[in-house]
Amino acid sequence: SPTLSLILGDQLNSNHPWFNSTDKNTTYAIYETWSEATYTRHHIQKVCAFFLAMRTFADELRAAGHNVIYRTLDESRELQLESIADNLLYDANELSAGTIRYQLPDEYRLDEELKSLSENFEGVIEATDTHHFLSGRNDVADLFAGKKTYLMETFYRSMRKRHNVMMEANGEDPLTGQWNYDHDNRGSLPKSITFPEASTFPKDVSSIVKMLERNGINTMGRIKKNVLSYPTSRSECLEALTDFVQNRLPLFGTYQDAMTVRHPLLYHANLSFAMNVKMISPREVIDAAVSEWQRRPEEIEINQVEGFVRQILGWREYMRGVYWAKMPQFALTNDLDHQAELPSWYWTGDTKMNCLGHAVNQSLDLAYAHHIQRLMVTGNFALILGVHPDEVDAWYLGVYIDAIEWVEITNTRGMSQRADGGLVATKPYCSSANYVNKMSDYCKGCHYKYKEKTGDKACPFNSLYWDFLDRHRDKFANNFRMAFMYKTWDKKSGEDKAAILERAAWVKAHADEL
Ligand code: FAD
Repeated sequence: SPTLSLILGDQLNSNHPWFNSTDKNTTYAIYETWSEATYTRHHIQKVCAFFLAMRTFADELRAAGHNVIYRTLDESRELQLESIADNLLYDANELSAGTIRYQLPDEYRLDEELKSLSENFEGVIEATDTHHFLSGRNDVADLFAGKKTYLMETFYRSMRKRHNVMMEANGEDPLTGQWNYDHDNRGSLPKSITFPEASTFPKDVSSIVKMLERNGINTMGRIKKNVLSYPTSRSECLEALTDFVQNRLPLFGTYQDAMTVRHPLLYHANLSFAMNVKMISPREVIDAAVSEWQRRPEEIEINQVEGFVRQILGWREYMRGVYWAKMPQFALTNDLDHQAELPSWYWTGDTKMNCLGHAVNQSLDLAYAHHIQRLMVTGNFALILGVHPDEVDAWYLGVYIDAIEWVEITNTRGMSQRADGGLVATKPYCSSANYVNKMSDYCKGCHYKYKEKTGDKACPFNSLYWDFLDRHRDKFANNFRMAFMYKTWDKKSGEDKAAILERAAWVKAHADEL
């Protein structure tokens, strides 16, 4: 009897074994649904990129001889099929399918939805792997069973060995004897440096934008002239990968933590969307970087490529493992009991703080910010302001092109907001203006003075930083990586402390007006 095979919007993996041969009894189904377009308020470019990539994938499957049902948002709404499961059950019935197959979703929400299909379908239901990740859903949980902190570095080293990436022939030692070159990867930008222009893939998505409007989908962010520049097919993704390894990898590591008003991307890859929807695999991205390094040993130093490999083989796989180890409870964590609202200018970019204005406007314009902008500007500010993690999550889950819950929530609640009680990060990622000034050119010409802690012109980061440490003394004073900061705070006079806390109180009360 016929088989109906579901492909989710983030499962556009043309190398999946499903597609090794064609079968006239199998129909693939890809759906644009109300539920997916509205489970959070998404960036307009994010919805356009997903739908366009899904449409392109469906066309490619058809061209390869597969049977495909593709339902646009207009069509699924017309039939009042609002969720993935609604669509799937409708088609199973229409086709008299005896089997429904799906690839295991990466999101808890969809995992639950698909598990419950059996309540309404009498045939066989098969769930299979996505053949995308380099580790299993439960590998991180198994590695750290019983531990209070999940140290990424431990997992990363095990992955290097297991997948034989940048290892000596004995399979035990890292090439050159050193696992991690992070200390070489904190360079600040020289003034004279130039940035290579990355390949873009401009496409007019007016018809998708109009469809979203017609259906009353509430989005955020901007799209200039309805042109989307992200890669939305496998061949475009491969072109973007080649462009990255040839032109930006050579300086990726060195300036990984730098930020500038001069360029949104610097030397970053901008491959997270391509990977997260599985148009390209982490293994091929890692292999492309390592072979470029091997091909140009004179030009590309090991810190550049190791830093990059660590992000993908380490952080990306690790975050997925943390997600499956800790969901659904993870989404409820709020260890620091933060309750404030996110300032309204996160949605508009309208703030006098140069760093935040820049990072937020860039995010609204491009649906992209690089890691340090996310962690040390928007994330850091929300953390020291004491914003409720639900508010922070909603923003991050909406705003970025690559935001899918498994990798968004673990970074936001875990790494950035420390809502998980320190499972992911051994120390909170909080800082004063000093760090932002050191790593960027944002502070120059800002309305606020980065060196001042009190007074109307004092950078809000400064008073909030000390206020944060003071408020959470019981959580952090015994953390040896924070001890120095508490010593510095304790050395200040009572009067100085009071003035700083007073400025912080004003900032917190007027956060929308900063
Ligand atoms: P590069 O800097 O070029 O890094 C290469 C690749 O490494 C990325 O494409 C990504 O796949 C991977 N990577 C790097 N850092 C991480 C990380 N911490 N966790 C997982 N993978 C990583 N990444 C997402 O894909 N989706 C998200 O929703 C997301 N939300 C984030 C929220 C916060 C608060 C923070 C601090 C980070 C978040 N990240 C997220 C991780 C990281 O910032 C992005 O993956 C990265 O900025 C994407 O741009 P890039 O491809 O240019 O990355």
